[in-house]
Amino acid sequence: MKVLVPVKRVVDYNVKVRVKSDNTGVDIANVKMSMNPFDEIAVEEAVRLKEKGVATEVIAVSCGVAQCQEILRTALAIGADRAILVETTEELQPLSVAKLLKALVDKEQPGLVILGKQAIDDDANQTGQMLAGLCDLPQATFASKVEIAAGEARVTREVDGGLETVSVSLPAIITADLRLNEPRYVTLPNIMKAKKKQLDTVKPADLGVEIKPHLKTLKVTEPPKRSAGIKVPDVATLVAKLKNEAKVI
Ligand code: AMP
Repeated sequence: MKVLVPVKRVVDYNVKVRVKSDNTGVDIANVKMSMNPFDEIAVEEAVRLKEKGVATEVIAVSCGVAQCQEILRTALAIGADRAILVETTEELQPLSVAKLLKALVDKEQPGLVILGKQAIDDDANQTGQMLAGLCDLPQATFASKVEIAAGEARVTREVDGGLETVSVSLPAIITADLRLNEPRYVTLPNIMKAKKKQLDTVKPADLGVEIKPHLKTLKVTEPPKRSAGIKVPDVATLVAKLKNEAKVI
């Protein structure tokens, strides 16, 4: 069974992003970029499935600018077998990514696609769901455990107030939540090995997909600055302030 793992290049989670002065977006010039953390978890899960003998091939795919190759190399260093870059400088929104991935699903016929549950830059949480819709495949989102047996995936999902276990027939789309696994450290020998693995580049037109944005960002603003705190002399004053001023108790 082939497993396809879409990985997105995003601003590293340690970077404190700054809004551009014209409020059109965040400044990503000269900022450290990395693989979306949920996608790292998705790659780790796919590689573990291969190590268990459940998956036969793990294919990482990224859509975006040429530099996405760097995160594809990271996926290869974690243990993916080969990678595909769908190269474009156009702005990619979730529906466009889902269409590109659908074309690759048609071509590669994976038994499973594992995406991250959400990209930490746009926080859309849409691509996996849209891909399942476009491919007319079952989906199990926010997975914290995945077991594959007898042509089915048993997926434990993190839902409000507990865990839900669902079973989906394969092929299926799964999105990875934080507690699915802890990705391994990428070792230097594996980084060296990854340099020799196959990385193919295609253009959206090669996949017959036209990139078209469906929404326009009107404005991006900083969150309001936190106002300074105050010190209260005793507990009684604190309780009085919480009651009468903050009105929270
Ligand atoms: P989103 O719907 O934007 O929150 O993204 C959810 C997931 O879709 C991510 O965690 C990735 O697995 C995948 N994804 C989104 N954008 C891309 C992209 N440009 N290239 C590859 N995978 C992507």
